[in-house]
Amino acid sequence: MKKHYLKNNFIGLALFFLMNNFLSAQDQPILINLSDAVKSVKQYHTSEQFNRDVDRAIDDGLANLRQLEIPKNAAFVFDIDETALSNLEYELRYNFGYDPKTWDEWIKEANATAIPGVKRLYDSLVARGIKIIFISGRNAALIKDTELNMKKVGYSHYDTLICKTPEFKGKKAVEFKSKIRKELSRKYKIIGSVGDQWSDLEGGWTIIKIKIPNYMYFIE
Ligand SMILES: [Mg+2]
Repeated sequence: MKKHYLKNNFIGLALFFLMNNFLSAQDQPILINLSDAVKSVKQYHTSEQFNRDVDRAIDDGLANLRQLEIPKNAAFVFDIDETALSNLEYELRYNFGYDPKTWDEWIKEANATAIPGVKRLYDSLVARGIKIIFISGRNAALIKDTELNMKKVGYSHYDTLICKTPEFKGKKAVEFKSKIRKELSRKYKIIGSVGDQWSDLEGGWTIIKIKIPNYMYFIE
């Protein structure tokens, strides 16, 4: 009897220590050195793995699109930064830092490159006669510079390009973008959206959602 009690007690103690260690391990935030994190993000975004991951997301989106009946007024919404255009050069120049002044200067340079997988989606939609809409959190004052950059890298056939106007200042991206999609839905049937942030895709007024990776920053 005593033996049995000791055995149970031992298992109980062992469980107690295991659980305790497990819980304290859970409570600990996983910390990595910032320089290592920067190195990993840089390595990923400059690697072929990034393009492969984008391609996979785009292929899934195109497969979903094939299941849909495409109405006459069908439109597809694209985000711009880190979706249609890559600002990796800016990110590397400032070591992934952000400053509104240097950001606006970078937009005026109009030297962002196209992300190949997203450009492929764009070309495929244009070829099918699906209307293209760009919705961007960029300042509306920089719309001409943005259009210049877009055309430079081959995004020339779009119906609408909307940047953030002062009325949305201080509002979350998800609010701004879904409200614009809702307004545009009076004219178009939005069959899909593509973006690097969930805030590009959530809030309704789109059928297909294509999320491509971005480990450089997060926008609510
Ligand atoms: Mg973006």
